[in-house]
Amino acid sequence: MQTITLLGATGSIGLSTLDVIARHPDRFRVFALTAHKNIDALVELARQHRPEYLVVADKSNYAEVQEKARALGVTAEILAGEQALMEVSSDSRVTTVMAAIVGAAGLRPTLSAVQAGKRVLLANKEALVMSGQLFIDAVNQSGAELLPVDSEHNAIFQCLPEQFQYGQPETSGIERILLTGSGGPFLTTPVEALEAVTPEQACAHPNWSMGRKISVDSATMMNKGLEFIEACWLFGLEPEQIQVVLHPQSVIHSMVQYRDGSVIAQMGQPDMRTPIAHCLAYPERIQAGVEPLNFAALTDFSFTTPDTQRYPNLMLAIDACCAGQSATTALNAANEVAVEGFLQRRIGFTTIALLNRRVLESIQPQELYAIDDIIAWDRECRQLAQQYLESLEQA
Ligand code: NDP
Ligand code: MG
Repeated sequence: MQTITLLGATGSIGLSTLDVIARHPDRFRVFALTAHKNIDALVELARQHRPEYLVVADKSNYAEVQEKARALGVTAEILAGEQALMEVSSDSRVTTVMAAIVGAAGLRPTLSAVQAGKRVLLANKEALVMSGQLFIDAVNQSGAELLPVDSEHNAIFQCLPEQFQYGQPETSGIERILLTGSGGPFLTTPVEALEAVTPEQACAHPNWSMGRKISVDSATMMNKGLEFIEACWLFGLEPEQIQVVLHPQSVIHSMVQYRDGSVIAQMGQPDMRTPIAHCLAYPERIQAGVEPLNFAALTDFSFTTPDTQRYPNLMLAIDACCAGQSATTALNAANEVAVEGFLQRRIGFTTIALLNRRVLESIQPQELYAIDDIIAWDRECRQLAQQYLESLEQA
């Protein structure tokens, strides 16, 4: 029996995780569910899944959660704040933590699960992008079992040979990783028309249904950029060992190319319940409620190279990955500010990349290792991004 803390229970990944968990009551028990502002959804989930703890990240929502939980007959103990998120991630009764908070807010709670040596199911890629070496060192020191939920990294993980050694793909005969991406909703939109696209259009992904931040990141391909950085850390790869391939149908979720010419791909529906179930039950395989692929209906199956003009954010991320930790942390911070600004209609879609570039161009490399230094640097870069956002804001 695995005892699970679900960070970000009310989000897209959180709900898909609960869907898989509910299919296997004999395997999984929910220990804690966490959310930020979505109190009604959190309390309703608690009624269904009966966790021992409910944690709301925003302390100002504590009283409201208590009141609503009482009204629904929810008996879970209610906690609030970042410290409480860290406690339910590292509690000795917990075996498994699903890290599905969006953005930098997930860093400390996810790291806390890692440091406590849990089985950590990593969806929150921003946490790894921000802290890189510190995160991987913590995994190695604590003996945590880090399993990638992000569909591409989960696919790569499934395509690697058993004897794969971190940072040494060559010894396993691996030549490179082919990281696939759909190209998002604006794959064929004329580049000149991108300035005027709306948040609604950006969030309408053709294949995947996701939270708003990652949906915008998919539209700009910053998501693939963050995944590029994520893959370097997860598998110990150099940037030149990864190639991004556009595959609009999202059937192949990534591939590993071997020295002898073999390419191993993982395929499946674009449904996060597959990688989530893979991580939850690893190394076993369990039902995820996902229909198998219907190959007779796959009429189109295509691959291209991403257009650098259409996706400047992807190139910024690859450059930042080569530049090092302070650049990737800065880029992540700038991008969170820019995406929020776009979602609030303060800046246009193409201004996201402009703002990210400005922040990257105005910073100096830093020595970043300690968590407090990373968080201070993240804050500094957000302030810089905020200033640029105000100066670029549409009239
Ligand atoms: P959502 O926006 O749907 O959900 C985010 C979750 O995080 C919610 O539970 C939200 O709570 C919580 N949250 C938001 N802000 C804070 C905060 N400041 N402190 C604590 N909790 C917070 O996101 P997704 O589920 O789409 O994505 C989650 C993570 O998984 C992201 O890092 C994303 O990149 C990654 N991922 C997502 C995929 C997908 O298909 N959705 C695929 C691969 C990776 P509340 O609802 O109360 O606001
Ligand atoms: Mg992904």
